[in-house]
Amino acid sequence: MECDELLTLLNDYVDGEIEPGLCAEFEKHIAGCNPCQVVVDNIRKTITLYKDGQPYELPVEFRRRLHTALRQRWKETHQ
Ligand SMILES: [Zn+2]
Repeated sequence: MECDELLTLLNDYVDGEIEPGLCAEFEKHIAGCNPCQVVVDNIRKTITLYKDGQPYELPVEFRRRLHTALRQRWKETHQ
């Protein structure tokens, strides 16, 4: 898996379509790629904060902002 494939997966994750913890390829890439690790940790924390024990359903606007923040963070860690 390449870094940009992982970013695509992360966007799906934000939309609640996949669970990265269940994706072996995802975990394998993270294990060997520090920049991706940083970004994934960050996005997980953000989502966990938002969820706060509630059912996982992010508003569209929130997801849109999260996608933007994600790409920004990605650029910072992968330059
Ligand atoms: Zn990577």
